[in-house]
Order: sequence, then structure tokens, then C-alpha cells
Amino acid sequence: MKKTDQLGINTICTHVGELKDEQFKGAVSPIYLSSSYQFYDVDVKRYPRYFNTPNQEALCKKIAALEKTENALIFGSGMAAISTSLMAFLHKGDHVVLQETLYGGTYNLVIEEFNKFGIEYTFTESLEIEDFKKVIRSNTKVVFIETPSNPLLKLVDIKAVADLAKKHGIVSMIDNTFASPINQTPIDFGIDIMIHSATKYMGGHSDILAGAVAASNEHIDKIWNIAKNFGGSLSDFTVWMLERSIKTMNLRVKCQNENALKMANYLEQNPNVDKVYYPGLESHENHELAKAQMKGFGGMLSFELKEGIDSMEFQRNLELIKPSMSLAGVESTLLSPSQTSHALLSPEERAKQGIKDGLIRFSVGIEEVEDLIADIEQAIEKL
Ligand SMILES: *Cc1c(COP(=O)(O)O)cnc(C)c1O
Repeated sequence: MKKTDQLGINTICTHVGELKDEQFKGAVSPIYLSSSYQFYDVDVKRYPRYFNTPNQEALCKKIAALEKTENALIFGSGMAAISTSLMAFLHKGDHVVLQETLYGGTYNLVIEEFNKFGIEYTFTESLEIEDFKKVIRSNTKVVFIETPSNPLLKLVDIKAVADLAKKHGIVSMIDNTFASPINQTPIDFGIDIMIHSATKYMGGHSDILAGAVAASNEHIDKIWNIAKNFGGSLSDFTVWMLERSIKTMNLRVKCQNENALKMANYLEQNPNVDKVYYPGLESHENHELAKAQMKGFGGMLSFELKEGIDSMEFQRNLELIKPSMSLAGVESTLLSPSQTSHALLSPEERAKQGIKDGLIRFSVGIEEVEDLIADIEQAIEKL
């Protein structure tokens, strides 16, 4: 067989890391659910919380291949992956630079927990590289970005951030969840550590909570050292589910890319819609950057209904598209950030971030786009 780095993306998704069923010659990886392994006379002392069961190690090979890194670790949630990775590189008295708009859970982790550990932090004023440069200090150890960001799909220049981090000897991390490894490979631009909520595109069916980190052996060792203490490993049954899910990730994400672009174009010309935010549209402020650093524009978009149209009533009228939290499943879902992810912010803070009350975030699924459009038309018609 070819070397892993020469394989095509669907072959990586389907085969890399799979465990051979030597006993029965079954076609898929067997699940090893043991939480107890022999301790004497073995090369590896295995235990689920040491992140080294057969299924965990096997899936890590697939995820590392997808992010083109040496190694990976799988966690019980995206937040376990994010918190453990950050804490592995931040000690008392250290400083971390984080981008302005971040996933709410990451933001809460920083503002609710870091003071307890004496870790200093600064959120940038904007997503522009100049605002990252301004806030780097002599004790800055980590720079953390998330692009495309939620919910307006604004982008950060990945290469500019990676270069800045290298210049200052800082570790760079990216939350690559929204893009997935199919649409964006940040290591190509010099980012050190790629983090995923595998709950989203890797899982892809709205039935798994998991996280993943991909990086060099050296960085993964550092993260592993505290991961075993924090204990955020994933159950082997779910690890196996995730392996199965990733087999179709490229097919799903490609379809979602296509659907989202068609949907964005449709919404942009719909007279009931004010504005559409999608990196694949020429009207998006970061379209050129998206073309430079993304291989596909993703399945996430946002739009604003015309003033006077009740966005909550519109959502209640939908029959096919589900108004629900979370994202990236094969089924289309949408929600109002002002009622959900950004509900705790004051209306002024939301306005500052450009999040209007009528803004709707849309996670486009794999259904036929014509059916999704028909659902939107009938929901507007009923108003
Ligand atoms: C969902 C999400 C997370 C958190 O992941 P969980 O699996 O819910 O812990 C982190 N970052 C982004 C961008 C997400 O969408």
C-alpha cells in the first residue's frame, strides 16, 4: 500500500488506522472495551484514561493523517480538548492571546477559570493581524484562533498568525471545528496545534460528543502529560462510533459545501433577506482570504431576515429544517444566536459584535437543496 501521506482523502477517511480483525476477518475495526489490561511483560501499559487503548490509538492515526501531523489525541468533548491543550502550555504568570470572537464555551473557560490559575489573557480588539501584534507581551506563551468564527463566519489570516507566533517563539493553536480537516489544513500555514470539537463535522450525525487534538509528537506528549491527570478521555464505544463517522466525512462535508454555496446564493437574491454571511460569497468581507486558506467554504452560513419579519415565528414555521442547537450534522439545523449562544450578552454587546436580533445561523445538511429552499419559502409564506 502507498504511504499514508500519499493516499487520497477518502482513502484516509476510510482506512488509515483501522484495526485488523485477525480472529474473524471482519471488515471493520473490532471494539476493545477493556478498562483493564495486563500490566507485566507488555510494551505499553494500557488504560482508557491514558489515551492508549487500541481503538483510541487507531483513531488517532486517522485524525493525525487528516491534519497532516505526527500524532493526535481524542477527548471526551471539544471543551476537554481545548481546556487540556491550553493548560498544557500555560503556567502561573504566563499570558495567552485569544481572538475576539470565540466559541462561547472557550470564552467562558478563559474568563471563569484562568484567574484561579494566575494565567493572564487578552482578547484581541478585532480579527486583524495588527490587533494580535499589539497585545503580545514578553510572557505570552500561546496564541489561540478560531476561523471561520461563529456566527458571522469572519476569518483570521492563519499564516499571518502562525508567522507572528514563530517570530516570538509562541505556540499557536487553532480551533478548526467549523472548517473541518476537509476544508482547511492549518499546518500548511505553520500552525502548531489543531483542535476539533469532533461533536461537529467529524461526528457529523448529531449523536456523538467528542474532541480531538492533532500536533507534533513533542506537542502531543506535553498535552498527554496533563491529559492523563485531567482525565478527559473518550469511551471506546464512542471512539469506535467516531471512527465509523469519519469514514464518510469527506463525502458529507463536500456535499455540505455545495449545498451551503447554493443556499447562500439563493438567500442573497431572496427579497425577504437583508444580508447573507458566507465566506464563499463574493460579498463576504473575507472572500479573498477564504480562497487563499480554505479548500472549501464549509457548511455554515448566517443570514438576516428583512426588518419586520419575525425570525422566531419563521423558525417555528419550518417543517424540514430543525431549529436546534449545535451544528454540522447531516440534517439542516438553524438557530438565533441572540436567543441561544449569545443570549447572555447585552443587546449593546451583541450589536458591537454585529449580531442583530434577526440573525439566523444555518448549519446546512446533506438534503437536496431544492427541498430546503421549499421549506424556507413555505415558512416565509405563512408569516
Ligand atoms: C461545539 C464547539 C466547541 C465545543 O465542543 P463540545 O464538543 O461541545 O465540547 C468548540 N469550538 C467550536 C467552534 C464548536 O463549535
